[in-house]
Amino acid sequence: YAFMKTSCMHCADPSCVSACPVTAMTKDPKTGIVAYDAEACVGCRYCVVACPFGIPKYQYDSPTGKIGKCELCRHRYKDGHYSACAEVCPTGATLYGRTSDLLSEAKRRLALAPGSLTTYPRGNLSGGPDQSYQGYVGKYKQHVYGETEYGGTQVLKLSAVDFEKVGMPYLPPKSSASTSETIQHTLYGGLLMPFAVLGAMTYVAKRNVHHEDDAPTDEQRKEGS
Ligand code: SF4
Ligand code: SF4
Ligand code: SF4
Repeated sequence: YAFMKTSCMHCADPSCVSACPVTAMTKDPKTGIVAYDAEACVGCRYCVVACPFGIPKYQYDSPTGKIGKCELCRHRYKDGHYSACAEVCPTGATLYGRTSDLLSEAKRRLALAPGSLTTYPRGNLSGGPDQSYQGYVGKYKQHVYGETEYGGTQVLKLSAVDFEKVGMPYLPPKSSASTSETIQHTLYGGLLMPFAVLGAMTYVAKRNVHHEDDAPTDEQRKEGS
């Protein structure tokens, strides 16, 4: 058996933010946290459909349902805390820190020989007290999930079994948000779409307009009936 922690990946180019029509989902340009604003949310659930990891969950049992998702415990920072899952994890299987520090730690582990003894950090990798301990290196798959997937994610994962077996989908290096925005910008940037729509509307309108000259006379109508 194997376990995988499931939470928001805080994508570099989040599809949920791209899909949200009212900017209730936003990505903080400084911390990278993808946050949710319940006051702004209109409950359309576009973000639920857009997320490739199935993270945003909607409150279907409420007439005024809201979205629930991991916000990297941003409400705890003002009290000097960080992500609760990393703060309480006894083995350091979940770590908190800057993405660059997490990536360095992941690559360090991948470079170690399985079974060798190493120092495992716990808690906050980018600050806080040293809580590290000695342990044996696992037999990791040689891949840091999130380094390239979907344009990159700020949550990174290591696994000893195939990622797909623990619920992490195969994803291309480009996010769908980026792909759809490229298409939209290309179409609208060159005003191709407005012209195409105008062209189509003109054509439909023209097909449905009968010129007076084309209209049957009263005598023709009587003959027809
Ligand atoms: S994992 Fe899903 S909910 Fe989280 S930032 Fe990415 S698209 Fe949004
Ligand atoms: S459900 Fe709310 S957060 Fe999600 S896309 Fe709709 S308005 Fe945005
Ligand atoms: S404890 Fe906080 S950071 Fe960890 S998964 Fe839950 S909401 Fe996200």
